[in-house]
Amino acid sequence: MDRFLKENSSREMLLSLFAEAPVAMVVLMGEDFIFQAVNKLALQLFGKDEAIVGKPLLKAIPELKDQKFPAILRKVLDSGKTYHGHHERALLHRNGELQEAFFDYIYSALRDADGKVIGIHVIATEVTETIRAIQEMQESENRYRDLILNADVATAIYKGEEMVVEMANDRMLRVWGKDKSVIGKKLKDALPELDGQPFHQLLADVHRTGNTYKAEEDRVDLVVDGKLQTFYYNFSYKAIRNISGEIIGILNMAVNVTEQVLAKRRAQENEARIRSIILNAPLPMVLLRSEKLIFEICNERNSDLWALPDDVVGQSIIERFDEHLNHPVIAAAREPFLTGKPSRLWEYRIETEEGETDRYVNYVFHPLFDAERQVEAVIGTGYEVTEELRIRRQLRANEEKFRMLANSMPTIAWTTDRFGNVEFFNDKWYAYTGTDSDGTDDNDWLSAVHEDDRKRVGKLWEKCVRGGSAYETEYRLQDKSSNRYRWFLVRGIPLRDENGEIIQWIGNNTDIHDFKMLQNQKDDFLGIASHELKTPLTSIKAYAQVLEKKLRKTGDDKNADFVMKMDRQVNKLNSLIADLLDVTKIQNGKMQYTEGAFCMGDLVEEVVEQLRHTADKYRIDLVHNDKADVYGDKDRIGQVIINLISNAMKYSPQNEQINVTCVQENGQVTICVQDFGIGLPDDKQDKVFEQYYRVSGDKQHTFPGLGLGLYISSEIVKRAGGRIWVNSVLGKGSTFCFSLPTAGENEVVS
Ligand code: ADP
Repeated sequence: MDRFLKENSSREMLLSLFAEAPVAMVVLMGEDFIFQAVNKLALQLFGKDEAIVGKPLLKAIPELKDQKFPAILRKVLDSGKTYHGHHERALLHRNGELQEAFFDYIYSALRDADGKVIGIHVIATEVTETIRAIQEMQESENRYRDLILNADVATAIYKGEEMVVEMANDRMLRVWGKDKSVIGKKLKDALPELDGQPFHQLLADVHRTGNTYKAEEDRVDLVVDGKLQTFYYNFSYKAIRNISGEIIGILNMAVNVTEQVLAKRRAQENEARIRSIILNAPLPMVLLRSEKLIFEICNERNSDLWALPDDVVGQSIIERFDEHLNHPVIAAAREPFLTGKPSRLWEYRIETEEGETDRYVNYVFHPLFDAERQVEAVIGTGYEVTEELRIRRQLRANEEKFRMLANSMPTIAWTTDRFGNVEFFNDKWYAYTGTDSDGTDDNDWLSAVHEDDRKRVGKLWEKCVRGGSAYETEYRLQDKSSNRYRWFLVRGIPLRDENGEIIQWIGNNTDIHDFKMLQNQKDDFLGIASHELKTPLTSIKAYAQVLEKKLRKTGDDKNADFVMKMDRQVNKLNSLIADLLDVTKIQNGKMQYTEGAFCMGDLVEEVVEQLRHTADKYRIDLVHNDKADVYGDKDRIGQVIINLISNAMKYSPQNEQINVTCVQENGQVTICVQDFGIGLPDDKQDKVFEQYYRVSGDKQHTFPGLGLGLYISSEIVKRAGGRIWVNSVLGKGSTFCFSLPTAGENEVVS
């Protein structure tokens, strides 16, 4: 050491240099590292005083025992190689406590003249403060990183001009629809879909100028879940600077506002749609905002209807009606604001600034709700009902007229719905039946019908209602004032709409009791009279036949012919009386039938043959293919055929041809008698089978008769289970037919 000092400088100078050096300096000698020299800074650093000089290292600073330094020193001593310690940690007893400290130091070997290592020169600088500062910085950086990673907002940091994704929290990764692999990549590689969108340019601008960029509800298209989708974000790009103020990166924060933007857009679209609907509606429509009922949209029809000025939008409807909240229009328009439900204004007579008009409207006000389900506006839709009201009033007047008319009628009048449920009876019904005029018993009308008629009438009414055919019948109704039954003729016809669907039934019951009684009397009288006439007539006929024979014997042919003619007239009289008797018998159900099976073809042939003799003026052609038997009263059926052929003769004064056919087909034998006579009008064809029905008008006397033949025939045919009908053309001729089931088919057999 002495030599070293001698060789290098003056001892004092070196000592002073050593003592005052701005670094801690120590000289340790020998195997035990005895403190040879320690400068001030070194003493401060070890927290010791001069007393350590001359002491071995571990004696002087025992706390170093279990630390790495003695071993390093040993290595340097053994190898002679300098050792650099950087930011190394040591524990030192300083100021009464064991302190942690950090050092940069150099251990270099001290050699003697022979180059042998004899000690170690230590130069040390304490860097505890620096290390602490670095630690703090790291902690703060970690905190910052954590802050970003756990932020509630999607956050990312891009570094450098290349915009390398240095950090992106999970939220940001979700925004991008990417995973952590994007970290460390350049933004344009991480999100290639941003190409063509403005973000790279914006980032470059922020990097260049340092001005923060903020965007609201900006559109960004990102590939999320494998497909390119559009999102809307509020986001910012903020420059990150280093201590020297240089821009080193960009902080990107973003909030997804797609839902809000879309909702807003939908709301805007809805509003536009509502506006267009209102403006183009074919009805008067208006949108009134807030409880103040401010006109927001008002279409032309609405303006015209209420004669509103052009600048009505923005005005309040309340002002228009002098602030009268009870005014029906205002009350109706405000109601949805109070109840949240639609309201209506019915048959309101419109008033304009000039006063009341003759126009009437119906309005419905519908609430429009905002996002908080509060009513923000009402839409009023109007419908002019002026014409409807006028018609309704007229209808009411007509109905009243009808009611009065129906009530003034001497007959019972009624209407039912299409299902036959009574809708109306005139007063006459209630007065006659004694039922309640409030209508409670209306549908129980069958109770007033005589019980012998009830079933038949009920069935018929049901059948007519179901089938839509006119209803006509006779029945007895009880007169409540006397408890007696009277006969009524009842008719009901269905009223149809333009499609032919029944909408109502209209009917009346006419009292025919007296007429019916008279008819009975007449029938009784006819029965008695014809019966009484028959006996003397039979005698006259017998006398006439005797007289004729006698006159012929005496050769008085002239008088015999007179008597024969008289006999023919007696025959006619006889047949008329027979008809009258038959009718009374049918009426009383006393007609006698002697029934059995017979061949219709033979019967027709027989009858035709007989008539050809008696009326040789006519040509009667017969065609028949029938050999089947029918079942019935042969004489009565013969009477039917005679009647049809006699009528054919009687009603064909100009044409002598008569065709008779008898055809068997499908289990029926049909006989038709065709003439080429006067024929029948269409509307009379069904009527001819009714009792006493006769050809009318000026022909009445041309063709004598009682109008009973066809009635009796139809009764006989019906009795035999057949039917009778006519086809006729007025002026051209008629074909009367009847058919009977062949024997075995006849169900009437009894
Ligand atoms: P009558 O012949 O005694 O009047 P009928 O009952 O036989 O009674 O006939 C009823 C009505 O039917 C007749 O009055 C006549 O108007 C019509 N009639 C019947 N047969 C014919 C026919 N062959 N041609 C045209 N009209 C007929």
